[in-house]
Amino acid sequence: VSFGFKNVPEDEKESLVRGVFDSVASSYDLMNDASSLGVHRLWKDEFVSSLRPGRKGPMRCIDVAGGTGDIALRILDSAREKYADRETTVEVVDINAQMLKEGHRRFKKTMYHNTPQISFHEANAQELPQDKFEDNSYDLYTIAFGIRNCTSIPAVLQEAHRVLKPGGTFACLEFSRVNNPLLSAIYDQYSFSIIPLMGTILAGDRDSYQYLVESIRKFPPQPTFAQMIRDAGFFTGKDLDGGAWTDLWGGIASVHTGVKV
Ligand code: SAM
Repeated sequence: VSFGFKNVPEDEKESLVRGVFDSVASSYDLMNDASSLGVHRLWKDEFVSSLRPGRKGPMRCIDVAGGTGDIALRILDSAREKYADRETTVEVVDINAQMLKEGHRRFKKTMYHNTPQISFHEANAQELPQDKFEDNSYDLYTIAFGIRNCTSIPAVLQEAHRVLKPGGTFACLEFSRVNNPLLSAIYDQYSFSIIPLMGTILAGDRDSYQYLVESIRKFPPQPTFAQMIRDAGFFTGKDLDGGAWTDLWGGIASVHTGVKV
């Protein structure tokens, strides 16, 4: 099976993506560490600390495409450690039950287990059930390394805008475009040869990791994505090109934020 999306009709993409994450769920955290050489941890730390959860008091957060809860755990730890806040809550939403199961298992070892601070929900980012995820209800919406897997980015952004309170923050961490040609060449070599090879060795699954790499290439570059965020009704703080996002490691990843107005 080839997971390159060139020949995959849009309506099949969702089930393909589901299959990819089904097959990687149990090895997901290990592969994440191996393929990024642990760097995803630094990016996630930086992402969450830039959002300063708990600074203005307890926040109601939703972490979409939250997988095994990496971002949720950081949000709760950061609120507690920096602001002695044990009332901030995170609802982790993911389309894939296996990923959520891994997340739930992982949280059992934390102090948040069995508290109202954390909960897991199976749902599609593009159409969050309105009865469960009501309009104007969250202070913070996060999505990390997830939006590029969704069939319709505008639909995800529209839903993010719907569920956020006015003044609430949308924050996205995603692989992005490297602008420096030398770094770009090294990065291409690494991602197209080494990551699928690691997928084979560590998870016995080359295709899924090949798909993950290809999906990174298809995601819009920073200015285009920033414009999509503005088109969904968010204020990104700065004028058009530049400033609406922060590049991490020369653009290998980037953080985009927007405020619901
Ligand atoms: N946010 C986590 C992290 O940073 O470790 C997980 C990222 S993982 C690369 C991408 C996640 O997106 C997977 O758990 C996958 O199931 C989920 N996903 C893909 N399409 C989705 C959709 N349409 N709605 C919700 N989740 C989706």
